[in-house]
Amino acid sequence: MIDEKLQPILSTVLHRNAGEAEFHQAVREVLESLGRVIARHPEYADEALIERICEPERQIIFRVPWIDDNDQVQINRGFRVQFNSALGPYKGGVRFHPSVNIGIVKFLGFEQIFKNALSGLPIGGGKGGSDFDPKGRSDREIMRFCQSFMVELHRHIGEYVDVPAGDIGVGAREIGYMFGMYKRLNNRFEAGVLTGKGLVYGGSRARKEATGFGTVYFVRSMLENMGTDFEDKRCVVSGSGNVAIYAMQKINAFGGKVVACSDSGGVIIDEDGIDLDLVREIKEERRGRISEYAEAKGAGCTYKHGGNIWDVPCDLAFPCATQNELDGRDAKALIKNGVTVVAEGANMPCTPEAVKQFQAAGVRFAPGKAANAGGVATSALEMQQNASRDSWSFEKTEERLAEIMGNIHDSCVQTADEYGAPDDYVLGANIAGFLRVADAMRAMGVI
Ligand code: GLU
Repeated sequence: MIDEKLQPILSTVLHRNAGEAEFHQAVREVLESLGRVIARHPEYADEALIERICEPERQIIFRVPWIDDNDQVQINRGFRVQFNSALGPYKGGVRFHPSVNIGIVKFLGFEQIFKNALSGLPIGGGKGGSDFDPKGRSDREIMRFCQSFMVELHRHIGEYVDVPAGDIGVGAREIGYMFGMYKRLNNRFEAGVLTGKGLVYGGSRARKEATGFGTVYFVRSMLENMGTDFEDKRCVVSGSGNVAIYAMQKINAFGGKVVACSDSGGVIIDEDGIDLDLVREIKEERRGRISEYAEAKGAGCTYKHGGNIWDVPCDLAFPCATQNELDGRDAKALIKNGVTVVAEGANMPCTPEAVKQFQAAGVRFAPGKAANAGGVATSALEMQQNASRDSWSFEKTEERLAEIMGNIHDSCVQTADEYGAPDDYVLGANIAGFLRVADAMRAMGVI
Protein backbone atom coordinates (compact mmCIF):
# COMPACT_ATOMS: atom_id res chain seq x y z
CA MET A 1 0.00 0.00 0.00
CA ILE A 2 1.21 3.46 -0.89
CA ASP A 3 0.59 6.32 1.52
CA GLU A 4 -1.96 8.71 0.04
CA LYS A 5 0.52 11.59 0.22
CA LEU A 6 2.87 9.64 -2.02
CA GLN A 7 0.22 8.51 -4.49
CA PRO A 8 0.52 11.63 -6.70
CA ILE A 9 4.27 11.02 -6.97
CA LEU A 10 3.64 7.52 -8.27
CA SER A 11 0.99 8.82 -10.68
CA THR A 12 3.50 11.30 -12.11
CA VAL A 13 6.14 8.58 -12.49
CA LEU A 14 3.67 6.28 -14.28
CA HIS A 15 2.52 9.04 -16.59
CA ARG A 16 5.94 10.46 -17.35
CA ASN A 17 7.52 7.06 -17.97
CA ALA A 18 4.66 5.36 -19.79
CA GLY A 19 5.18 1.70 -20.59
CA GLU A 20 8.29 1.26 -18.43
CA ALA A 21 6.90 -1.59 -16.32
CA GLU A 22 10.11 -2.56 -14.50
CA PHE A 23 10.82 1.05 -13.57
CA HIS A 24 7.28 1.44 -12.23
CA GLN A 25 7.75 -1.74 -10.19
CA ALA A 26 10.99 -0.52 -8.61
CA VAL A 27 9.57 2.92 -7.76
CA ARG A 28 6.34 1.50 -6.35
CA GLU A 29 8.26 -0.76 -3.98
CA VAL A 30 10.35 2.09 -2.60
CA LEU A 31 7.35 4.43 -2.25
CA GLU A 32 5.49 1.70 -0.33
CA SER A 33 8.28 1.80 2.26
CA LEU A 34 8.48 5.60 2.47
CA GLY A 35 5.01 6.12 3.94
CA ARG A 36 6.43 5.30 7.36
CA VAL A 37 9.24 7.82 6.92
CA ILE A 38 7.05 10.78 6.05
CA ALA A 39 4.56 9.87 8.78
CA ARG A 40 7.36 10.31 11.30
CA HIS A 41 9.44 12.95 9.48
CA PRO A 42 7.16 14.91 7.14
CA GLU A 43 10.08 17.17 6.20
CA TYR A 44 11.39 14.44 3.89
CA ALA A 45 8.43 15.10 1.61
CA ASP A 46 9.26 18.83 1.40
CA GLU A 47 10.69 20.60 -1.63
CA ALA A 48 9.64 17.76 -3.92
CA LEU A 49 12.53 15.72 -2.58
CA ILE A 50 10.93 12.35 -3.36
CA GLU A 51 9.80 13.55 -6.82
CA ARG A 52 13.38 14.59 -7.50
CA ILE A 53 14.74 11.18 -6.44
CA CYS A 54 12.36 9.54 -8.95
CA GLU A 55 13.55 11.69 -11.86
CA PRO A 56 17.00 10.84 -13.29
CA GLU A 57 19.46 13.73 -13.31
CA ARG A 58 20.37 12.85 -16.91
CA GLN A 59 19.47 10.19 -19.51
CA ILE A 60 21.67 9.54 -22.52
CA ILE A 61 20.54 7.42 -25.49
CA PHE A 62 22.82 6.90 -28.47
CA ARG A 63 23.35 4.95 -31.67
CA VAL A 64 26.00 2.23 -31.65
CA PRO A 65 26.99 1.25 -35.20
CA TRP A 66 29.46 -1.61 -35.71
CA ILE A 67 30.51 -4.04 -38.41
CA ASP A 68 30.01 -7.78 -37.90
CA ASP A 69 32.22 -10.62 -39.16
CA ASN A 70 30.21 -10.82 -42.41
CA ASP A 71 30.99 -7.19 -43.15
CA GLN A 72 27.42 -6.17 -42.40
CA VAL A 73 26.66 -2.93 -40.57
CA GLN A 74 24.76 -3.54 -37.33
CA ILE A 75 22.99 -0.92 -35.25
CA ASN A 76 22.28 -1.13 -31.54
CA ARG A 77 21.02 1.36 -29.04
CA GLY A 78 23.21 2.48 -26.13
CA PHE A 79 22.02 3.93 -22.82
CA ARG A 80 23.43 5.60 -19.75
CA VAL A 81 21.09 6.86 -17.06
CA GLN A 82 22.83 9.12 -14.54
CA PHE A 83 20.25 8.89 -11.82
CA ASN A 84 21.54 10.50 -8.67
CA SER A 85 24.89 12.02 -7.70
CA ALA A 86 24.09 13.25 -4.18
CA LEU A 87 26.54 10.83 -2.55
CA GLY A 88 29.26 10.64 -5.18
CA PRO A 89 29.92 10.11 -8.88
CA TYR A 90 27.22 8.07 -10.66
CA LYS A 91 28.13 4.42 -10.23
CA GLY A 92 26.61 1.30 -11.70
CA GLY A 93 27.07 -1.38 -14.29
CA VAL A 94 26.51 -1.68 -18.01
CA ARG A 95 24.30 -4.50 -19.27
CA PHE A 96 24.46 -6.00 -22.78
CA HIS A 97 21.32 -8.03 -23.41
CA PRO A 98 18.59 -7.95 -26.07
CA SER A 99 15.98 -7.12 -23.39
CA VAL A 100 17.68 -3.81 -22.50
CA ASN A 101 15.58 -0.70 -23.06
CA ILE A 102 15.27 2.63 -21.28
CA GLY A 103 12.78 1.25 -18.74
CA ILE A 104 15.12 -1.58 -17.74
CA VAL A 105 18.08 0.80 -17.42
CA LYS A 106 16.00 3.20 -15.33
CA PHE A 107 14.81 0.47 -12.96
CA LEU A 108 18.38 -0.69 -12.50
CA GLY A 109 19.64 2.88 -12.03
CA PHE A 110 16.92 3.63 -9.50
CA GLU A 111 17.73 0.50 -7.46
CA GLN A 112 21.39 1.39 -7.67
CA ILE A 113 20.86 4.73 -5.87
CA PHE A 114 19.66 2.99 -2.70
CA LYS A 115 22.01 0.02 -2.99
CA ASN A 116 25.02 2.30 -3.29
CA ALA A 117 23.81 4.45 -0.40
CA LEU A 118 23.42 1.32 1.76
CA SER A 119 27.03 0.35 1.08
CA GLY A 120 28.03 3.41 3.10
CA LEU A 121 30.57 4.35 0.41
CA PRO A 122 30.67 7.65 -1.49
CA ILE A 123 28.97 6.60 -4.73
CA GLY A 124 25.89 7.91 -6.52
CA GLY A 125 23.59 5.79 -8.68
CA GLY A 126 23.56 5.14 -12.43
CA LYS A 127 23.24 2.37 -14.95
CA GLY A 128 23.78 1.76 -18.63
CA GLY A 129 23.70 -0.80 -21.34
CA SER A 130 22.68 -1.80 -24.79
CA ASP A 131 20.25 -4.13 -26.53
CA PHE A 132 23.31 -5.78 -28.11
CA ASP A 133 23.18 -9.59 -27.82
CA PRO A 134 26.65 -11.01 -27.15
CA LYS A 135 25.44 -14.60 -27.56
CA GLY A 136 27.18 -16.29 -30.48
CA ARG A 137 29.32 -13.24 -31.30
CA SER A 138 33.02 -13.68 -31.98
CA ASP A 139 35.66 -12.05 -29.84
CA ARG A 140 36.37 -9.56 -32.63
CA GLU A 141 32.71 -8.60 -32.89
CA ILE A 142 32.57 -8.06 -29.12
CA MET A 143 35.65 -5.85 -29.35
CA ARG A 144 34.27 -3.74 -32.20
CA PHE A 145 30.96 -3.33 -30.41
CA CYS A 146 32.61 -2.30 -27.12
CA GLN A 147 34.83 0.17 -28.94
CA SER A 148 31.92 1.78 -30.76
CA PHE A 149 29.90 1.92 -27.53
CA MET A 150 32.77 3.74 -25.82
CA VAL A 151 33.31 6.18 -28.71
CA GLU A 152 30.06 7.79 -27.58
CA LEU A 153 30.02 6.95 -23.87
CA HIS A 154 33.49 8.39 -23.17
CA ARG A 155 32.30 12.01 -23.30
CA HIS A 156 29.77 11.37 -20.49
CA ILE A 157 31.92 9.51 -17.94
CA GLY A 158 35.03 10.06 -15.82
CA GLU A 159 36.61 9.22 -12.48
CA TYR A 160 34.73 12.12 -10.80
CA VAL A 161 31.67 12.01 -13.06
CA ASP A 162 30.34 8.55 -13.72
CA VAL A 163 32.05 5.18 -13.24
CA PRO A 164 30.52 2.26 -15.18
CA ALA A 165 31.26 -1.41 -14.51
CA GLY A 166 29.90 -4.79 -15.59
CA ASP A 167 26.49 -6.41 -15.34
CA ILE A 168 24.77 -9.14 -17.41
CA GLY A 169 26.76 -9.67 -20.62
CA VAL A 170 29.63 -7.43 -19.50
CA GLY A 171 32.63 -8.99 -17.74
CA ALA A 172 36.39 -8.48 -17.66
CA ARG A 173 36.74 -8.96 -21.44
CA GLU A 174 34.24 -6.22 -22.30
CA ILE A 175 35.57 -3.87 -19.59
CA GLY A 176 39.07 -4.35 -21.06
CA TYR A 177 37.97 -3.38 -24.56
CA MET A 178 36.02 -0.39 -23.25
CA PHE A 179 38.88 0.78 -21.04
CA GLY A 180 41.30 0.52 -23.97
CA MET A 181 39.13 2.75 -26.13
CA TYR A 182 38.51 5.24 -23.32
CA LYS A 183 42.25 5.49 -22.70
CA ARG A 184 42.92 6.05 -26.40
CA LEU A 185 40.22 8.70 -26.84
CA ASN A 186 41.24 10.67 -23.76
CA ASN A 187 44.96 10.02 -23.95
CA ARG A 188 45.06 9.49 -20.20
CA PHE A 189 45.37 6.45 -18.02
CA GLU A 190 42.40 7.21 -15.82
CA ALA A 191 42.16 3.94 -13.94
CA GLY A 192 39.17 5.00 -11.83
CA VAL A 193 36.85 5.58 -14.81
CA LEU A 194 35.69 1.96 -14.96
CA THR A 195 35.65 -0.84 -12.40
CA GLY A 196 35.79 -4.58 -12.86
CA LYS A 197 39.10 -4.12 -14.69
CA GLY A 198 41.68 -6.87 -15.13
CA LEU A 199 44.17 -7.18 -12.27
CA VAL A 200 47.18 -6.20 -14.38
CA TYR A 201 45.82 -2.77 -15.29
CA GLY A 202 44.17 -1.54 -12.10
CA GLY A 203 41.48 -4.05 -11.23
CA SER A 204 40.75 -5.08 -7.67
CA ARG A 205 41.26 -8.52 -6.23
CA ALA A 206 37.94 -10.09 -5.16
CA ARG A 207 35.86 -7.84 -7.46
CA LYS A 208 34.92 -10.78 -9.67
CA GLU A 209 33.83 -12.81 -6.64
CA ALA A 210 32.29 -9.91 -4.74
CA THR A 211 28.60 -9.96 -5.73
CA GLY A 212 28.14 -13.69 -5.14
CA PHE A 213 30.36 -13.76 -2.03
CA GLY A 214 28.60 -10.69 -0.65
CA THR A 215 25.15 -12.22 -1.05
CA VAL A 216 26.26 -15.27 0.92
CA TYR A 217 27.86 -13.11 3.63
CA PHE A 218 24.54 -11.29 3.88
CA VAL A 219 22.65 -14.57 4.27
CA ARG A 220 25.16 -15.73 6.87
CA SER A 221 24.16 -12.69 8.97
CA MET A 222 20.46 -13.45 8.40
CA LEU A 223 20.97 -17.04 9.52
CA GLU A 224 22.96 -15.90 12.57
CA ASN A 225 20.05 -13.66 13.42
CA MET A 226 17.76 -16.70 13.27
CA GLY A 227 20.16 -18.67 15.50
CA THR A 228 21.41 -20.97 12.76
CA ASP A 229 24.05 -21.27 10.00
CA PHE A 230 24.78 -22.76 6.54
CA GLU A 231 25.77 -26.21 7.79
CA ASP A 232 23.93 -28.89 5.75
CA LYS A 233 21.43 -26.44 4.27
CA ARG A 234 20.12 -27.40 0.83
CA CYS A 235 20.56 -24.45 -1.49
CA VAL A 236 19.28 -23.63 -4.93
CA VAL A 237 20.99 -20.91 -6.98
CA SER A 238 19.41 -19.78 -10.22
CA GLY A 239 21.67 -18.67 -13.04
CA SER A 240 25.24 -19.79 -13.69
CA GLY A 241 26.92 -16.49 -14.46
CA ASN A 242 29.28 -14.42 -12.39
CA VAL A 243 26.92 -13.88 -9.44
CA ALA A 244 25.73 -17.50 -9.26
CA ILE A 245 29.20 -19.06 -9.58
CA TYR A 246 30.70 -17.15 -6.66
CA ALA A 247 27.57 -17.47 -4.53
CA MET A 248 27.85 -21.24 -4.96
CA GLN A 249 31.55 -21.17 -4.06
CA LYS A 250 30.90 -19.30 -0.81
CA ILE A 251 27.88 -21.44 0.12
CA ASN A 252 30.14 -24.49 -0.18
CA ALA A 253 32.84 -22.81 1.90
CA PHE A 254 30.29 -22.11 4.64
CA GLY A 255 29.15 -25.75 4.72
CA GLY A 256 25.96 -25.49 2.65
CA LYS A 257 25.14 -27.73 -0.32
CA VAL A 258 24.05 -26.41 -3.71
CA VAL A 259 21.89 -28.94 -5.54
CA ALA A 260 20.70 -26.94 -8.55
CA CYS A 261 21.60 -24.07 -10.86
CA SER A 262 20.40 -23.00 -14.31
CA ASP A 263 20.73 -20.87 -17.42
CA SER A 264 18.17 -19.51 -19.87
CA GLY A 265 18.04 -22.97 -21.52
CA GLY A 266 17.30 -25.16 -18.52
CA VAL A 267 18.06 -26.46 -15.04
CA ILE A 268 20.62 -28.93 -13.71
CA ILE A 269 19.98 -30.86 -10.52
CA ASP A 270 22.90 -32.70 -8.96
CA GLU A 271 22.11 -34.29 -5.60
CA ASP A 272 25.84 -34.85 -4.97
CA GLY A 273 26.28 -31.10 -4.96
CA ILE A 274 26.98 -28.99 -8.04
CA ASP A 275 30.53 -29.51 -9.36
CA LEU A 276 31.66 -25.92 -9.48
CA ASP A 277 34.89 -26.50 -11.39
CA LEU A 278 32.83 -27.95 -14.21
CA VAL A 279 30.31 -25.07 -14.19
CA ARG A 280 33.17 -22.59 -14.23
CA GLU A 281 34.88 -24.33 -17.12
CA ILE A 282 31.65 -24.44 -19.16
CA LYS A 283 30.56 -20.88 -18.40
CA GLU A 284 33.76 -18.90 -17.91
CA GLU A 285 36.05 -20.66 -20.36
CA ARG A 286 33.90 -22.28 -23.03
CA ARG A 287 31.10 -19.67 -22.73
CA GLY A 288 28.81 -22.67 -23.25
CA ARG A 289 25.39 -23.86 -22.07
CA ILE A 290 24.58 -25.49 -18.72
CA SER A 291 23.20 -28.54 -20.60
CA GLU A 292 26.86 -29.44 -21.23
CA TYR A 293 27.14 -30.11 -17.49
CA ALA A 294 24.66 -32.96 -17.74
CA GLU A 295 26.40 -34.27 -20.86
CA ALA A 296 29.72 -34.35 -19.00
CA LYS A 297 28.28 -35.87 -15.80
CA GLY A 298 25.96 -38.47 -17.28
CA ALA A 299 23.85 -40.41 -14.75
CA GLY A 300 23.51 -38.88 -11.31
CA CYS A 301 22.67 -35.48 -12.72
CA THR A 302 19.38 -34.37 -14.23
CA TYR A 303 19.00 -31.70 -16.90
CA LYS A 304 15.54 -30.26 -17.39
CA HIS A 305 15.31 -28.39 -20.64
CA GLY A 306 13.16 -25.32 -20.00
CA GLY A 307 12.61 -26.55 -16.42
CA ASN A 308 11.68 -24.42 -13.44
CA ILE A 309 14.41 -24.27 -10.80
CA TRP A 310 12.00 -23.09 -8.09
CA ASP A 311 10.31 -26.49 -8.08
CA VAL A 312 13.49 -27.98 -6.60
CA PRO A 313 13.03 -28.32 -2.81
CA CYS A 314 15.52 -26.32 -0.74
CA ASP A 315 16.10 -24.52 2.57
CA LEU A 316 17.71 -21.45 1.05
CA ALA A 317 16.95 -19.96 -2.37
CA PHE A 318 19.26 -17.57 -4.23
CA PRO A 319 17.75 -16.04 -7.37
CA CYS A 320 20.91 -14.91 -9.19
CA ALA A 321 19.79 -14.73 -12.84
CA THR A 322 17.65 -11.74 -13.83
CA GLN A 323 14.64 -9.53 -13.05
CA ASN A 324 11.23 -11.10 -12.41
CA GLU A 325 12.50 -14.67 -12.75
CA LEU A 326 10.63 -15.81 -9.62
CA ASP A 327 6.87 -15.15 -9.50
CA GLY A 328 3.97 -15.80 -7.13
CA ARG A 329 3.53 -19.37 -8.28
CA ASP A 330 7.24 -20.09 -7.77
CA ALA A 331 7.10 -18.52 -4.32
CA LYS A 332 4.22 -20.82 -3.40
CA ALA A 333 6.17 -23.87 -4.57
CA LEU A 334 9.24 -22.82 -2.54
CA ILE A 335 7.14 -22.16 0.56
CA LYS A 336 5.38 -25.51 0.23
CA ASN A 337 8.79 -27.18 0.02
CA GLY A 338 9.95 -25.50 3.23
CA VAL A 339 12.22 -22.64 2.14
CA THR A 340 13.27 -20.42 5.09
CA VAL A 341 15.42 -17.71 3.45
CA VAL A 342 15.35 -16.13 -0.02
CA ALA A 343 18.13 -13.71 -0.99
CA GLU A 344 18.31 -11.82 -4.27
CA GLY A 345 21.75 -12.07 -5.91
CA ALA A 346 20.29 -10.57 -9.09
CA ASN A 347 18.52 -7.22 -9.35
CA MET A 348 14.78 -7.52 -8.60
CA PRO A 349 14.47 -11.23 -9.53
CA CYS A 350 11.35 -11.68 -7.37
CA THR A 351 8.04 -10.20 -8.51
CA PRO A 352 6.12 -8.09 -5.96
CA GLU A 353 3.61 -10.95 -5.66
CA ALA A 354 6.42 -13.39 -4.78
CA VAL A 355 7.82 -11.03 -2.14
CA LYS A 356 4.36 -10.64 -0.62
CA GLN A 357 3.99 -14.44 -0.43
CA PHE A 358 7.37 -14.90 1.26
CA GLN A 359 6.71 -12.22 3.83
CA ALA A 360 3.21 -13.52 4.60
CA ALA A 361 4.61 -17.01 5.12
CA GLY A 362 7.36 -15.80 7.48
CA VAL A 363 10.17 -16.57 5.01
CA ARG A 364 13.06 -14.13 5.52
CA PHE A 365 13.50 -12.21 2.30
CA ALA A 366 16.58 -10.12 1.39
CA PRO A 367 16.09 -7.67 -1.49
CA GLY A 368 18.85 -7.29 -4.08
CA LYS A 369 19.66 -3.72 -3.19
CA ALA A 370 20.92 -5.02 0.16
CA ALA A 371 21.95 -8.61 -0.57
CA ASN A 372 23.82 -8.01 -3.83
CA ALA A 373 25.48 -4.72 -2.86
CA GLY A 374 28.83 -6.48 -2.41
CA GLY A 375 29.63 -6.11 -6.12
CA VAL A 376 29.29 -2.38 -6.31
CA ALA A 377 30.83 -1.97 -2.84
CA THR A 378 33.95 -3.75 -4.05
CA SER A 379 33.87 -1.53 -7.14
CA ALA A 380 34.09 1.40 -4.73
CA LEU A 381 37.06 -0.34 -3.10
CA GLU A 382 38.59 -0.62 -6.58
CA MET A 383 38.12 3.14 -6.98
CA GLN A 384 39.86 3.66 -3.62
CA GLN A 385 42.80 1.54 -4.71
CA ASN A 386 43.02 3.39 -8.04
CA ALA A 387 42.89 6.79 -6.34
CA SER A 388 45.75 5.86 -4.02
CA ARG A 389 47.65 3.94 -6.75
CA ASP A 390 47.54 0.91 -4.50
CA SER A 391 46.62 -2.74 -4.89
CA TRP A 392 45.30 -4.66 -1.90
CA SER A 393 45.62 -8.37 -1.15
CA PHE A 394 42.67 -10.70 -1.70
CA GLU A 395 42.37 -11.19 2.06
CA LYS A 396 42.25 -7.49 2.84
CA THR A 397 39.67 -6.81 0.13
CA GLU A 398 37.47 -9.72 1.13
CA GLU A 399 37.68 -8.68 4.77
CA ARG A 400 36.42 -5.20 3.84
CA LEU A 401 33.63 -6.77 1.76
CA ALA A 402 32.54 -9.02 4.64
CA GLU A 403 32.53 -6.05 7.00
CA ILE A 404 30.45 -3.95 4.58
CA MET A 405 27.90 -6.75 4.10
CA GLY A 406 27.62 -7.16 7.88
CA ASN A 407 27.01 -3.42 8.23
CA ILE A 408 24.36 -3.40 5.49
CA HIS A 409 22.61 -6.31 7.16
CA ASP A 410 22.64 -4.63 10.55
CA SER A 411 21.44 -1.32 9.22
CA CYS A 412 18.50 -3.05 7.44
CA VAL A 413 17.55 -4.86 10.65
CA GLN A 414 17.93 -1.79 12.87
CA THR A 415 15.98 0.43 10.51
CA ALA A 416 13.17 -2.13 10.14
CA ASP A 417 12.97 -2.39 13.93
CA GLU A 418 13.01 1.36 14.36
CA TYR A 419 10.15 1.77 11.89
CA GLY A 420 8.04 -0.93 13.49
CA ALA A 421 8.48 -3.75 10.95
CA PRO A 422 10.90 -6.29 12.47
CA ASP A 423 12.57 -8.70 10.00
CA ASP A 424 11.26 -6.73 7.01
CA TYR A 425 14.49 -6.37 5.06
CA VAL A 426 12.71 -4.66 2.15
CA LEU A 427 11.48 -1.85 4.36
CA GLY A 428 14.79 -1.66 6.23
CA ALA A 429 16.85 -1.45 3.03
CA ASN A 430 14.59 1.08 1.32
CA ILE A 431 14.41 3.39 4.32
CA ALA A 432 18.08 3.17 5.33
CA GLY A 433 19.20 3.81 1.74
CA PHE A 434 16.69 6.60 1.21
CA LEU A 435 17.65 8.48 4.38
CA ARG A 436 21.31 8.70 3.38
CA VAL A 437 20.54 10.03 -0.08
CA ALA A 438 17.78 12.32 1.19
CA ASP A 439 20.00 13.86 3.87
CA ALA A 440 22.67 14.66 1.30
CA MET A 441 20.10 16.11 -1.11
CA ARG A 442 18.52 18.27 1.59
CA ALA A 443 21.94 19.67 2.50
CA MET A 444 22.58 20.64 -1.12
CA GLY A 445 19.36 22.57 -1.72
CA VAL A 446 17.05 22.26 -4.68
CA ILE A 447 19.26 20.97 -7.50
N1 GLU B 1 26.12 -4.31 -11.94
C1 GLU B 1 26.42 -4.48 -10.55
C2 GLU B 1 25.22 -4.11 -9.71
O1 GLU B 1 24.11 -4.38 -10.11
C3 GLU B 1 27.71 -3.80 -10.14
C4 GLU B 1 27.82 -2.35 -10.44
C5 GLU B 1 29.21 -1.76 -10.20
O2 GLU B 1 30.11 -2.47 -9.78
O3 GLU B 1 29.33 -0.56 -10.41
O4 GLU B 1 25.30 -3.60 -8.62
